[in-house]
Amino acid sequence: MALKLVEELAPAGYERLVYIEDEEAGLRAFVCIHSTACGPAVGGCRMWNYATLDEARTDVLRLAAGMTHKNAMAGLGLGGGKSVILGDPRSDKTEALFRAFGQAIESFGGSYYTAEDVGISPEDMAIVAKETSYAVGLDDGAHASGDPSPFTAEGVFQCLKVGARAVFGTDDLTGRRVLVQGLGHVGWSLAEKLHAAGAQLLVSDVNVQAVETARDTLGAEVCAPDEVFAQEMDIFAPCALGGVLNRETVEQLTARLVCGAANNQLLEPSVAGDLLKRDCLYLPDYVVNAGGIISVASEVHRAGPEYRTERLAQIASRVAQIIEISRKERMTTIAVADQMVAEILASAKGKVAEAV
Ligand code: NAD
Repeated sequence: MALKLVEELAPAGYERLVYIEDEEAGLRAFVCIHSTACGPAVGGCRMWNYATLDEARTDVLRLAAGMTHKNAMAGLGLGGGKSVILGDPRSDKTEALFRAFGQAIESFGGSYYTAEDVGISPEDMAIVAKETSYAVGLDDGAHASGDPSPFTAEGVFQCLKVGARAVFGTDDLTGRRVLVQGLGHVGWSLAEKLHAAGAQLLVSDVNVQAVETARDTLGAEVCAPDEVFAQEMDIFAPCALGGVLNRETVEQLTARLVCGAANNQLLEPSVAGDLLKRDCLYLPDYVVNAGGIISVASEVHRAGPEYRTERLAQIASRVAQIIEISRKERMTTIAVADQMVAEILASAKGKVAEAV
């Protein structure tokens, strides 16, 4: 058989790191299981043109740990993991590659479930699913959860209202200037909700077509991607890239509230303190953007739509609790969230130890 799985030594705090190679199929990939303390690890598969194996390894480790946080906080009974395929998603996709990847995922025996992430479409995942029962985020099938983006957008919108109430004393968004950065799957859906709620929209995207449509259909004001932080705004909703909040951008930021879908919005942890000093309420990304993984979890657990509805509603109350604790304890919201996750994981590990 051409498929080769090489167990690598995972760094401390990680459960497994496996390098997968299938020369015939052109597959080179990593699967990382960070933690199964809360349940089987779930996290998407990213296909990216990594320059080196080391770059891919670093990325999968970072992403897998992030999934443990997100899944634990959302109370999904799931652990954290991630996979990355080395290759150009525009030119290197083949049926053989995804089938080989599916065989590799099957060999984990259900300790890791994969799904779509950057560079992977539901069509690709449907090929993976021909070889494994542990591929989710599918468009078809009895429990298929489909596109997670609308659920992510709904969770972000509900949290944004909680944040508005905390900062402005009301969650009425009429006339509030909200800047949505990135009008992709999540950002567009969020912009529509904000428009319907009466917000004064500002939008920015490198995709000219998207901003023009927002101007024409949602009455949005458009700003160039490099002028986002120079705008006067009440609320900033980053829905494009990670790392957009750094020392320099925060110094310029006029918003009193940050709530958006993008993963890893803070370039480094200290930026949370800079935001606090400027009296800007930051709602932790991995808490507010959990709607998508909640949707995927309903597929893993083969649950009905009520599972998704219930857990989606819990995101906003969790955020309200985080805001309350951060104000009482004079901590950043991210420090509060991280502490909550640490407690959830410690308790889950305790239960696992008791059961052994
Ligand atoms: P997407 O690829 O559909 O949209 C991203 C948008 O950002 C695109 O329209 C792109 O043109 C735009 N963009 C890229 N660079 C930009 C820049 N410099 N300035 C302004 N716009 C720029 O992605 P998505 O699925 O909407 O996800 C958005 C973010 O939310 C990502 O960070 C993603 O990791 C995160 N996220 C998404 C989900 C989900 O359910 N899709 C769940 C959790 C987190």
